Amino acid sequence: MERTYIKDLKDHVGESVCIRGWISVRRDQGKMVFFDVRDMTGSVQTVVLTKSPALEVAKTTTRESAISIMGTVNKRPGKNITVGVENGDIEVSVGSLDVLGASDVPPFEITEDTSMVDEKTRLQYRYLDLRSERMQKNIRLRSEFVRACREYLFAKKFTEIETPLLTESTPEGSRDFVVPSRLHPGSFYALPQSPQQYKQLLMVAGMERYFQIARAVRDEDLRADRGFEHSQIDIEMSFVEQEDVMAIVEDMMTETVEKLGFKVREKPFPRFTYAEAMEKFGADKFDLRTDDEKKTGVLAYAWVHKFPFFEKTPEGGWTFTHNPFSAPLPEHADDLLHGRNIEHILTAQYDLVCNGFETAGGSIRAHRPGILRAVYKTMGYSDERIEDSIGHMLKAFTYGAPPHGGIAIGIERVLMNLTGESYLREVQAFPMTRGGQTAVMNAPKPLQGKQLNELGIEIKKKKV
Ligand code: ASP
Repeated sequence: MERTYIKDLKDHVGESVCIRGWISVRRDQGKMVFFDVRDMTGSVQTVVLTKSPALEVAKTTTRESAISIMGTVNKRPGKNITVGVENGDIEVSVGSLDVLGASDVPPFEITEDTSMVDEKTRLQYRYLDLRSERMQKNIRLRSEFVRACREYLFAKKFTEIETPLLTESTPEGSRDFVVPSRLHPGSFYALPQSPQQYKQLLMVAGMERYFQIARAVRDEDLRADRGFEHSQIDIEMSFVEQEDVMAIVEDMMTETVEKLGFKVREKPFPRFTYAEAMEKFGADKFDLRTDDEKKTGVLAYAWVHKFPFFEKTPEGGWTFTHNPFSAPLPEHADDLLHGRNIEHILTAQYDLVCNGFETAGGSIRAHRPGILRAVYKTMGYSDERIEDSIGHMLKAFTYGAPPHGGIAIGIERVLMNLTGESYLREVQAFPMTRGGQTAVMNAPKPLQGKQLNELGIEIKKKKV
């Protein structure tokens, strides 16, 4: 018999059905056994009556077991209707019960809010944690959001392109995760901190409108809203100016979140220069919602732009504030080229802020080799070091590079905004512990001697 999803049971009253799912709650009343059964669409009460041939199996079937039930959908008598509960007015009378996968006693209650469960246990048993209603909702909402963005971007003539995971260490500002090479012992790949350079090369390659649901990996200290890995909707466009990129992102964010039933506080999104934001909020990310609005889940988007390009290093030199591949604002190009007024040079960088988080960041890029070179000169790079780190970009830009710019939207940050969650781990399927241990599996861990030999790596003994 074909399976009926639990949310559709109400259309099958009086009929025989087959449902599959897990037992959330079991109540053994001796002569009868009740199970609350849930599948990915909902939850329903089932009852194994005294005369049911399934009663014996039901007596030994444990909570959280995966089961298949054949039964009849009945209207509950008036006095038994649970008001305000999904499927509170129907129940399935069980004819036969198959245990497809028996469950041991779970290490924590899955029917409750699991955010209070100790982090280590929660992540060790993440597959059980993900069964909880809140986690199911969060992860599915994430999928819906990404899907809506994909659909939006395809409709606007973007092409989805993957870029390499094993790549060269880039000067994006964070520490790289590195991967040793077997074929070139002693040499290392880096995992991408973002697809920045490849997406720019795709613009030189004439792809014009690129996007990717990209993984970005950064070896940074872990925080509530920052993990080693995050995903971003990574976008790059050719023949555009700052306004064009901002317009498409604003339209996409509005369309997708409204489609998912959320409300945007102010349209068009208000804009603040970096200087205004610092003066008004004392920070470049801020929350525009009133206390009352915070209870309603409204999304207060705002743009911040006109950032300083450079900031002082502790050693007294200069480094970029956001992205070394950005262009200066056109009126500051001359100063950059001549190394003048460095502290006053503004960059064509724009950040999207929402409810206190930086949700997206991007810029118009330097597409002329002279400008990009000047950025690196300002940061004190010698010609040789420039050639070594970005020579390939400078060369690519000598072959008809179109003006281009883009942005990356942090998927976890958006989901934290949508769900109201305060921790990244509530919107990622398999996040790491605060100590950097993988969920369920045991990494990082030492390599075997044979693997180390192949890689030509010797591990220094810890001093005792
Ligand atoms: N590469 C930048 C980042 O990952 C985003 C961008 O400028 O497009 O933050």
